[in-house]
Amino acid sequence: MQDPLNVPKPAWLDREDVNIFSEAIAGFLDKECAPNAERWEAAGIVDRELWYKGGEAGLLVPSCPEEYGGAGGDWRHDYVFHMQASMRGTGGWGASLHNSIIGPYIWHYGSEEQKHRILPQMVSGELVGAIAMSEPGAGSDLQAIKTTAVKDGNGYRINGAKTFITNGGTANLIIVVAKTDASKGYDGTSLFLVETDGLEGFRRGKLLDKVGLKSQDTAELFFDNVWVPASALLGPEEGQGFIQLMQQLPQERLQIAVQGVGVMKRALIETIAYVKEREAFGRPIIKFQNTQFKLAECKTKATLAEVFVHHCSERLLNGTLDVSTASMAKYWVSDVQNEVVDECVQLHGGYGFMNEYPIAKMWRDSRVQRIYGGTNEIMKLLIARSL
Ligand SMILES: Cc1cc2nc3c(=O)[nH]c(=O)nc-3n(C[C@H](O)[C@H](O)[C@H](O)COP(=O)(O)OP(=O)(O)OC[C@H]3O[C@@H](n4cnc5c(N)ncnc54)[C@H](O)[C@@H]3O)c2cc1C
Repeated sequence: MQDPLNVPKPAWLDREDVNIFSEAIAGFLDKECAPNAERWEAAGIVDRELWYKGGEAGLLVPSCPEEYGGAGGDWRHDYVFHMQASMRGTGGWGASLHNSIIGPYIWHYGSEEQKHRILPQMVSGELVGAIAMSEPGAGSDLQAIKTTAVKDGNGYRINGAKTFITNGGTANLIIVVAKTDASKGYDGTSLFLVETDGLEGFRRGKLLDKVGLKSQDTAELFFDNVWVPASALLGPEEGQGFIQLMQQLPQERLQIAVQGVGVMKRALIETIAYVKEREAFGRPIIKFQNTQFKLAECKTKATLAEVFVHHCSERLLNGTLDVSTASMAKYWVSDVQNEVVDECVQLHGGYGFMNEYPIAKMWRDSRVQRIYGGTNEIMKLLIARSL
């Protein structure tokens, strides 16, 4: 797929192994996802088999350290995964979350036993990851979560309900955010690594009927007196949950921004081709100055976004990406993504509203980028704290 922007590849990204990996992802997504996309959209979920195939192709958790069965890559490999997947509109396959959100929690905070046992199964696709923070009554305000994990013997009893969970229909490895001390706010919150195969008291709700990202199996999850061993606690002691979330969220937010850039590139490719083809008043609509100006604006916005995600990526790689800068990337790029995609729908006229045109799916899928991963309003609160 031709890149419609002229942003030079930055030095940190220009590496042979990353280029090879990027091409492998593109080939895999074109072969395995594109032909099934419509079927998966209708089903609300991708085939379970796709995870195993992705594992066999070496695409799952590419930055997992070699000692735990991974390829020993880093954010560069995650970056090209997000870029290729978003340019192809395969965001319904929740591998991006599995790869660069769930995996890092385990190698950063897991015990050696957890890392050696769990990570190889994430790399192969036997375990599919999810993170369950949000609840019916608490999303932005995570301090208000009601799910509890109470000491019971040499383990914990988990009770609560989670909602909007990406990969929720499939995941069998779920990081559950729960209160280990309900009398405390942030300090009373812990993360648990819950392996759900055959787990008594664990139940999935129905797949949620969404406006976009139709093939993503977003679901409700229920924990009714679920018992997990004490070793399921992520980290050495209780009460570390918020610190762990705060440390990992910048990468999640940057991931959303990278995906936004990928979608804008594809929107430009589709729309430039369309306006050169489509005629009105006896000439291709690209000849109208309005079309040229609108696309010039879109290209400018996408270019600025890509330059900024390059900047943030470099800082993530050298360990200096702070919460506030990652929040800028998430909020600004996802806002701009929605502006650009909406403008591209407009330039398609009525066809832009037809599901058979890729731009229509991009428009439906883009909206949630401003909501999940922390809403854009919450991003502004985080940025404001740095003023
Ligand atoms: C497709 C999809 C996938 C998701 N995947 C996951 C997942 O995998 N795991 C997970 O845990 N969650 C997931 N979520 C949940 C998502 O993170 C939450 O929806 C999001 O954090 C917002 O929470 P909420 O829906 O409860 O909205 P609320 O918190 O109720 O917010 C409603 C509105 O109030 C605004 N608001 C709230 N507080 C403030 C404030 N202090 N100042 C100004 N405005 C404020 C918000 O910005 C928003 O506009 C997903 C959601 C969707 C739609």
